[in-house]
Amino acid sequence: MRTAVYPGSFDPVTMGHLDIINRSALLVDKLIVGVLNNNSKSPLFSVNERVNMLKEVTKDIPNVEVMSFSGLLVDFLKELDAKIVIRGLRAVTDFEYELQMSQTNRLLDNSIDTIFLNTNLKYSYLSSSVVREVARYGGDISKFVPEQVISRVYEKCGVNKEIIR
Ligand code: ADP
Repeated sequence: MRTAVYPGSFDPVTMGHLDIINRSALLVDKLIVGVLNNNSKSPLFSVNERVNMLKEVTKDIPNVEVMSFSGLLVDFLKELDAKIVIRGLRAVTDFEYELQMSQTNRLLDNSIDTIFLNTNLKYSYLSSSVVREVARYGGDISKFVPEQVISRVYEKCGVNKEIIR
C-alpha cells in the first residue's frame, strides 16, 4: 500500500491545493492531507475548521483522508507508515524553501522522499495569503477557493457578502 502525505497550512484550502490533491491522489493508493497545527503562526481558521473544509471539498475522492498533525512531519509519516511527501511548486521562489525542507526531512529519515508536482498554470499565482488579503478588502475570491469555502472566508474576515462585487 503506497501512502503519501500532502502537508500544509491550508488557511484556507485553495483551488491550487485542490488541484494538487486531485492529481496526487491518482499517483498513490492513499493520500493523507496533513493540516499543520502550528502554534507559532496565528491562522485565520482554527485547525479544526481547516480540516473540516478540506474534508468537505475532498469528500468525493475515495482515497483521500484529512488529518491534523503537530510536530515533525517525519514523525507524522512514521505514525502512518508513509514514505512519500507531496508538495506543490508554483515558481522558483518556492524552490529554495521546498528543497531545504525535503533535504532536511531526508536527513531526519532517509526512507522518505518528496514528490513535487508543478502547479496548474491557472493557479500559479494563487496562495492562501492572497485569498485572505483579497477577501479582507471585499474582493471576489470565487475563482480562488472551492465554492463551499467562499462564504466562510468572508465571514472570518468580517466582510458582509451582500456587498461583494
Ligand atoms: P505551507 O504553509 O506549508 O507552505 P500551504 O498551505 O501554503 O502550506 O501550501 C501547502 C503546499 O501546497 C505547498 O507545497 C505549496 O507549495 C503548495 N501550494 C500552495 N498553493 C499552490 C498552488 N496554487 N499551486 C500548486 N501548489 C500550491
